Amino acid sequence: MRTYRIAAIPADGIGPEVIAAGLQALEALERRDGGFRLDVTTFDWGSDYYRKTGAMMPEDGTEQLKAFDAIFFGAVGAPDVPDHITLWGLRLPICQGFDQYANVRPTRILPGIRSPLADVGPGDLDWVIVRENSEGEYSGIGGRAHKGLPEEVGTEVSIFTRVGVTRIMRYAFKLAQSRPRKLLTVVTKSNAQRFGMVMWDEIAAEVAKDYPDVTWDKMLVDAMTVRMVKNPRSLDTIVATNLHADILSDLAGALAGSLGVAPTANIDPERRYPSMFEPIHGSAFDITGKGIANPVATFWTAAQMLEHLGEPAAAARLMRAVEKVCADGVMTPDVGGTATTRHVADAVCEAIRMENIP
Ligand code: NAD
Ligand code: MN
Repeated sequence: MRTYRIAAIPADGIGPEVIAAGLQALEALERRDGGFRLDVTTFDWGSDYYRKTGAMMPEDGTEQLKAFDAIFFGAVGAPDVPDHITLWGLRLPICQGFDQYANVRPTRILPGIRSPLADVGPGDLDWVIVRENSEGEYSGIGGRAHKGLPEEVGTEVSIFTRVGVTRIMRYAFKLAQSRPRKLLTVVTKSNAQRFGMVMWDEIAAEVAKDYPDVTWDKMLVDAMTVRMVKNPRSLDTIVATNLHADILSDLAGALAGSLGVAPTANIDPERRYPSMFEPIHGSAFDITGKGIANPVATFWTAAQMLEHLGEPAAAARLMRAVEKVCADGVMTPDVGGTATTRHVADAVCEAIRMENIP
């Protein structure tokens, strides 16, 4: 029997609610499949841990995670702890410490869920956004001179390295190649930004030579927002910088119906370290404890995790179950339903148990 060691970090707000639902679905898949086992260890890191200890996780936190095959992450953020502490204290040290440079964000309209775009339904919008997750505009380099004075200057430096851009471009071309339409759109802003962005365009053209069966094009990020709204069918796989993809994927989430259905995987493609799987949304304290958090993003990222671990059949079964339950109208209020997190989780587990496919 194949056994995978999973580190669950539910953390803050609705994180524990959606991770509990995700683990429930994973257990149902384990029982149904019979071929693999998940050995889950849950960590109590996050804002409560911070209030008790002054840190979001222990000093050797990432060291403790190294032994795992994957990390299943909820969300961070609390009303009484500054966001830069929750983010830089837990999520980012994991992403950066484990060099999870490929952030993969699939978006599609699930059956039963309405896109705000008229006449756009399941099948019309099926994208994967690949976000560069290790450098670019979020390098953390910059500074402020003459702080508070009228002549104050702030700089925010974007760093693009040949190694960093080449590896994300290869990842994106390979992913595009694995999808039926073999279509890749490379997003930049190389008309206005003449250095790092022009390098992106050049490296894209170089890497493209190794993937002759992939059809690719270039878009400026501003024009890209228009194309996503006006012509969603023309897009498939998309690669963009840390900042551009951050913005485009929030738009993508909204076009697919709700942030509550949008998943993300922080991948170390070289598999030197565990990769991390999480819903895109945050801790949502406005709905924490009400039992109405949408667990679909978490189910979807659990499917990405199974895929990464080498269990594509279980991943596909989970997504079929999610699609069936959405199509049946068992949905939380953010996507127009009346179901609770628990109803949706129970229905997904039931669909996994009852499915007629071996
Ligand atoms: P948020 O994603 O937590 O919530 C935005 C809105 O979407 C809220 O109205 C919320 O109720 C709704 N929503 C989010 N997830 C939902 C779900 N699963 N089901 C139903 N509705 C859902 O973003 P925010 O309100 O800007 O931030 C709240 C906290 O989360 C902040 O502290 C922020 O820093 C943090 N945050 C963390 C992450 C992360 O952990 N990866 C991501 C984004 C924000
Ligand atoms: Mn974002």
